[in-house]
Formats: sequence, C-alpha cells, structure tokens
Amino acid sequence: MNVLLVNPPTGTRYPQPPLGLLSIAGALEAHKHRVAIVDGNIEELWMGLVRGKAKVADVVGVTVNSLGYRQAVGVIEMLKSVRPDVPVIVGGPHASALPVETWEGTGCDCVVEGEGEAAMVEMLGGKPLPVGVVGRGPRLEMDRLPMPAYYLVDHRRYRPHAPHGRRRPFMPLVTSRGCPYRCAFCSKSVFGSSYRFQSPARTLEELRFLKQMYRIREVAFYDDTFTLNRNRVMELCELLERSGLDIEWSCETRVDLVDPELLGAMRA
Ligand code: SF4
Repeated sequence: MNVLLVNPPTGTRYPQPPLGLLSIAGALEAHKHRVAIVDGNIEELWMGLVRGKAKVADVVGVTVNSLGYRQAVGVIEMLKSVRPDVPVIVGGPHASALPVETWEGTGCDCVVEGEGEAAMVEMLGGKPLPVGVVGRGPRLEMDRLPMPAYYLVDHRRYRPHAPHGRRRPFMPLVTSRGCPYRCAFCSKSVFGSSYRFQSPARTLEELRFLKQMYRIREVAFYDDTFTLNRNRVMELCELLERSGLDIEWSCETRVDLVDPELLGAMRA
C-alpha cells in the first residue's frame, strides 16, 4: 500500500525529526508498504504537499499532539474533501491521551492508542480497517523494531535546542520506552508505564548507521528515563568508548537515577 504519514505543525521554533512517524515508517517498509512523510514543522506549504501526495495514497496516518490539534483537524477536513475514499488513521500523544474525543473531534476514521508500529502493520495487513478507537496493541520488544526510516526526512532541516546541537550534524534518538514513575505533570500517553529498552549492541548499531549514513557528530537520547536500567547504560558507555565513534551525546533522566560512577562513565 502507499501510505502517507503527516506531522501537522505545532508552531515550534525548534523542529525535531518526527521519530514516532519514522519508526512507524520503518515498520511498514519492512512489510513492503511504500511510505512518504510530510512534516508540517519543516514544510511551509505542508498542506499543499499533503494534498498532492494524497492523490496516490491508499491510506493516510496523522500524528496529533495537543499543540498541533487544530492543524490536524484542518488537514483531515481537507483530506476528506479531496479523497473521501482514503481512510485516515490518527495516533500520537494527544490521540492517545484523549482517544474518543480525538475520534469525535477530528473526523478521522480511527484512532490508534499508544505505540503505532504493530498496530499500523496489523491494520494494513489486508483486513477491513476498523472504525473508531483501536485500543493499545502488543508492544514489540525494542530490538525487534526495524530501524526508523531516517532517510524519509532531511535531518539537516531540523533545529536542535540548547543544550543540544553543539556539534552538527545532530540527531535525536529513542532507545527505551515507558517509565514506571508517576510524576503528576507527565502524561506518558503513548509509551505508558512499562519499561522496555534496546540492548546496548542494538543502540550501537543504530549509532554506527547514523554515523555512516549522515556523519552524525552528536545525538540526544530522548528516552523518557534514559538511566532507569543502570547496567544497560554502563555497558553502552563501554561499547561507545571501544567503538571509536566520535559522537557526543546527552540524555534525559531523573536525578535519583544517577550516581558519581555512572556519571563518570557517561562523561568518558
Ligand atoms: S520520570 Fe520522567 S518520564 Fe517518568 S513519569 Fe516522571 S517526568 Fe514522566
């Protein structure tokens, strides 16, 4: 199938590669689907691009986060007027937090809650597409996920924000998903509370790939809680040091999940 994935603009001054869509694209391509992405955070004329690419699409996926909700409603309205025969599937943080409201409010055909890779592969597997809210499906082990289809976007057009981007080219990366903590201000709507992670060897493989393909010199791990598994991070630090890859990196985590020895290894 020809699949068009759309990231409606959120108005950010620091657009980041749409990692969720790239991962879904990688999973779909592994199942022989053809995927195109339009990123509204990068393309000024994104609506026109969506209109053009929708002419050859069999299905359209739209990711919705709260800041891009109005734009998502607008693009779905446009799609339904020019290609009413093409199903529109919606996912992403806003859709996962408020699935019923998103389905009712956007006019899409169905909403996928949570992670999209396995759900999209299954939905495009030949059965009739469901209508309404599709509950959370199975979560694949992270080492079993295909490499995100990084080539579908031009990483040079994205803009890291401080403290990232001291070295270019820069790329964000997600190597674990989920977080068991319950901070009151955090929704975790897509990845939820169960923690899963790539093996250090898989993370190194992805870093090598990014280095070879795009000469990446800095990455940021956008994992919810990068150091939750201390042994994994220690092993990754060791592998990185031995690899000779000239890549600086940073991550996000909790202050109670680091210690002097771990921080020393991460800095080395
Ligand atoms: S530790 Fe981070 S990811 Fe986990 S609940 Fe708190 S803010 Fe969210």
